[in-house]
Amino acid sequence: MWKRKWVVIAGLVALTAIALGLVAAAPADAGPPDPGPLPPGLAAKVFIHYDNGHGPGVDKTSAAVCSDTGAAICDDYAIGTTSGGLRIKWADPTGGGVGIPYYVNLNYSTKKSPNLIGTAAVAAIEASFAVWEAASDAGLNYTNEGLTSNRVGVLDGKNVVGWKGMNPGILAVTTTWYYTNTGKIAETDMAFNSNYSWTYTVPVCNSDGIPACNPATYEDPANSGVANTVDLRNIATHEAGHTLMLLDLYASNEQNLTMYGYGAYAQLKKDTLALGDDLGVKAIYP
Ligand SMILES: [Zn+2]
Repeated sequence: MWKRKWVVIAGLVALTAIALGLVAAAPADAGPPDPGPLPPGLAAKVFIHYDNGHGPGVDKTSAAVCSDTGAAICDDYAIGTTSGGLRIKWADPTGGGVGIPYYVNLNYSTKKSPNLIGTAAVAAIEASFAVWEAASDAGLNYTNEGLTSNRVGVLDGKNVVGWKGMNPGILAVTTTWYYTNTGKIAETDMAFNSNYSWTYTVPVCNSDGIPACNPATYEDPANSGVANTVDLRNIATHEAGHTLMLLDLYASNEQNLTMYGYGAYAQLKKDTLALGDDLGVKAIYP
């Protein structure tokens, strides 16, 4: 009798959890931050940036690429919408003229990333937003409001950039919350996987000279990052695209776009925008 009762209770708990969306089907690589139950009227998009070789397999090894400087130019981009078809975007990309505020939590593992200096990490993050600001014609502006101890991936009224321990294969996750009835963005958090080794290699500019890299004009970095480490600016620039509600692209001919959904060790090319990235930000914020 007691046994049967507990089975019934366990069943009800499981059904309730499924009804609340707390139990998701296990993906090949589990473990991104779960935005959890949300207040009424809010929804979240969770973007997972996979290490090459993990995640949903789409054309990850193809050598066919487009180039932002050569003849084959990629003009692909994708924009997030609500279930009702509204574009998800910042209501005011200028942040009321003073910038959309964000905060940085430097809680990375100094053991895993011994060569990442805090000030360099902040500079890499600022540069990752700057390249999108330069591409926008709408006065897009993000403002670094300083350091915080608030955690990433939590709806707390602050846009936070920081680190979180996640499963292997996941380089970073951006969570962007929005109002379902208007599509206006409420908050965005950017989380880098603290189980990887992070570095920041300042790109060598091809066209603008060293060290002044004008984010509006410089071409893909001529140098590469540190072997067996993930370049913070490279990945953060891709994640910054998600804070604007550009979506991941996975096709083989999209590998040179910043919004291509896979990253790799020592990669730097995502910290410059290709044509599709540029068209994407201009389409959302004309
Ligand atoms: Zn992504």
